[in-house]
Amino acid sequence: MKDFNLIINGKSIAATNYFDVINPADKSVVARCPKASVEQLNDAVAAAKAAFPDWSALTYAERRDKLMQLADAVEAHGKDIMTLLTKEQGKPMKGFADLGSGFELNGALAWIRGTASMELTPETIQDNDVARIELHRKPLGVVGSITPWNYPLLIGVWHIIPALLTGNTVVMKPSEMTPLTILYFGEIAKEILPKGVLNVVTGAGDIGAAISSHEDIRKVVFTGSTPTGKAIMRSAADNLKRLTLELGGNDAGIVLADADIDACAPKIFATSFINNGQTCAALKRLYVHESVHDQLCKALTNIATSMKTGNGFDEDTDFGPLQNQEQLNIVKALAEDAKDRGANFLCGGKVSNDNGYFYPITLVNDINDGSRLVDEEQFGPILPIIKFSNVEDAIVSANRLQVGLGGSVWSKDLEKAQIIASRLECGTVWINNHAMVQPDAPFGGVKDSGFGVEFGEAGLKEYTSIQTVQIFKS
Ligand code: NDP
Repeated sequence: MKDFNLIINGKSIAATNYFDVINPADKSVVARCPKASVEQLNDAVAAAKAAFPDWSALTYAERRDKLMQLADAVEAHGKDIMTLLTKEQGKPMKGFADLGSGFELNGALAWIRGTASMELTPETIQDNDVARIELHRKPLGVVGSITPWNYPLLIGVWHIIPALLTGNTVVMKPSEMTPLTILYFGEIAKEILPKGVLNVVTGAGDIGAAISSHEDIRKVVFTGSTPTGKAIMRSAADNLKRLTLELGGNDAGIVLADADIDACAPKIFATSFINNGQTCAALKRLYVHESVHDQLCKALTNIATSMKTGNGFDEDTDFGPLQNQEQLNIVKALAEDAKDRGANFLCGGKVSNDNGYFYPITLVNDINDGSRLVDEEQFGPILPIIKFSNVEDAIVSANRLQVGLGGSVWSKDLEKAQIIASRLECGTVWINNHAMVQPDAPFGGVKDSGFGVEFGEAGLKEYTSIQTVQIFKS
């Protein structure tokens, strides 16, 4: 079994200590991951700082050229990347609706190429006989990226590419649960990018905090839990780091009486259970009008009971295991609480394979606000379905939690749906869909789901500061 290395200043660097990365499908060891010391993190930050003047001095076209080369190289290693993703994350190679490792790889390629095609150009806000005033966007310096275990490659790319395109250099720390894909990505990138431009430092327990408090890091981008996001914000205060915090949510979907249930059901299923529910913008609480509740429950149950949960390398597997024991424990605890409160399990709810961190696709109705399964983010394959009779109550329910990442309204009447959608307290609202993101559409949360956006021009701007240039003509 091959040990992986840190990527610091364009070199593969061994560590003194290593930890095991576990395959969630069978609890076997996938590989040993380097556990960097804080000194090695400091080396990485120093390398990124040293690389910044030359990298930021390149034109967008020159940096774009490197990033497009990176996309081609990642694509050339696609099969290895997919295999590694399935081994360490658990998602199927193919899976339900082709939303497995291949989807993540292709998404990463689309994001690298789509983001690298963008550019921030100076804006002129005044140009008259007296003066011309221009707004220029300047990179910040060294960006620290801390990524989670649900989409190790894709979310890594979401952080790295806009940072690099706008002229910053990066030190990144992937989740200790799924560090290998990004270490492999770093190996590929070091052959293309100038040394020090992208550094990957893996560890557990102290590296994240060392990044968020490092005085030479000018910005941290973090995707993960709200408590850790708040801790990062506190330790970022000392050198006034900029932050983008994408902290997950508990997205509500509201299905109105006039929704086309046959058309909605497959989309609701897919966007609730994408990546086994381990998706920040998945639909996590489903509010359904009483007149279509039974019909939708039946349609969803029909889909759910046709799904196979298993090892991601088996061709007929639709959904893999949860990524880790902690997440499985959370899902089990929320399910037990729902059972204790008398909720009805339409399907699933029983673990039949404990060789890995498996939990079946589970649908629960006869459940209300106040139940843990509704109020807490499950981040797993279990969906609570709540019946309502008055849409005003559903809107209040959707907005009653402290999180606000996404939300959706399902109806044939697009105008009415849009009026309701505009009242949802969240960063993105979808009508007749959910969880859809793309490289040019900004995405981010409100309330405890964080702040700042990723993607599109607005996402690029988050990696820059404004320099106002005032040119007086005489
Ligand atoms: P966390 O959200 O707690 O994040 C863990 C990461 O944060 C590690 O890389 C850790 O580094 C780093 N970290 C911890 N403390 C600090 C700090 N003070 N400053 C900087 N970095 C720090 O992840 P978990 O894996 O524990 O997931 C917990 C929950 O988060 C899940 O149950 C799920 O609900 C949610 N989640 C949300 C995701 C999303 O997409 N929004 C994705 C994944 C999970 P180190 O090990 O060095 O401390």
